[in-house]
Amino acid sequence: MKVNSKYATKEALLELYNKPLLELVFEAATIHRQHHNPREVQMSSLLSIKTGGCPEDCGYCPQAARYHTDVDAHKLMTVESVVEQAKNAKANGSSRLCMGAAWREVRDNKDFDNVIEMVQSVNDLGMEVCCTLGMMNEDQALRLKNAGLFAYNHNLDTSPDYYDDVISTRDYEDRLNTIDNARKAGISVCSGGIIGMGEAVEDRMGLLMSYMQMENPPDSIPINALVAVEGTPLEEQKPIEQWEMIRMVATTRIAFPQSVVRLSAGRTKMSMEAQAMCFMAGAGSIFAGDKLLTTPNPEFNEDKEMFEILGLIPKESFADGEQPISLPDPIIEERKKKEAARAKELAEARAKVEANGKEDFTPRKVTVES
Ligand code: SF4
Repeated sequence: MKVNSKYATKEALLELYNKPLLELVFEAATIHRQHHNPREVQMSSLLSIKTGGCPEDCGYCPQAARYHTDVDAHKLMTVESVVEQAKNAKANGSSRLCMGAAWREVRDNKDFDNVIEMVQSVNDLGMEVCCTLGMMNEDQALRLKNAGLFAYNHNLDTSPDYYDDVISTRDYEDRLNTIDNARKAGISVCSGGIIGMGEAVEDRMGLLMSYMQMENPPDSIPINALVAVEGTPLEEQKPIEQWEMIRMVATTRIAFPQSVVRLSAGRTKMSMEAQAMCFMAGAGSIFAGDKLLTTPNPEFNEDKEMFEILGLIPKESFADGEQPISLPDPIIEERKKKEAARAKELAEARAKVEANGKEDFTPRKVTVES
């Protein structure tokens, strides 16, 4: 049961969301136990591989170039430093690494080739690799899939009705297309939203309805609470009540029984008790590490302590699907072949010049007139 047909209308979802809280949590916990191990919670790490300077205008995002925020922009990280960070995340218990680049869309260039190598290398470490790189076409999705990408994250953020209040530089349809391209390539889809952006509860349910209407709902649905960052258009938004996060997690859990509901941004504002209720209500994953792209997140140690207190177990990688095989990438192979041929040519030319130089070199006579 991928979607719960009992709640396939916005009205039914609204009624569910507004149920007495403890009944809602109980219903969610019951469904969660039927489809998932309630003690298992996946620890995922989110790494910003390219930060800031994004041409888009997402109203919540400090990485948009047009907003004046404290984010330090940096260009694409090297493959080596990503691997180092991945090893570190794995040693701290993460079984998934999500790599985020502040791009409008994927471009077929050297940077994308490097991302392909990052995917291959992190998959080789035995971690689930997820990317969030903006819009992508079918060919790019296939390259990522062949490199060993496990999941692609592309959030719808909110309902189609509220979307234009938050973003104007790309439309809802563009997002749906990218999700479709990931799905067609056989990549697990991770797509969710943000609450607390000034939207009505109807919009939260409108977001869930967008997933209800898909042929296949996302395998993962991250639920984020807005982290209002100074300098962004949403800087003045008041933090949401913890109850709203619990309600949203529980409603999502009930509506999509098989998806992994990911308790994502905004945990720093939540007490351990509120997070415990989210786990009870079906959250099956958190982001670990002190940063979520550019916004603060609880430290690894705090999360370890929380897991111990609540009796949670970090979920192993590939519990929900086989590890993809990383295949050689034809474009990178071709480039390497060309680079090797060029290097060989240069070395031969250099050797020739040196050899000729030794045999034929006769110093030029210089006459200095006095
Ligand atoms: S959310 Fe992504 S696409 Fe939107 S501004 Fe931020 S980095 Fe760019």
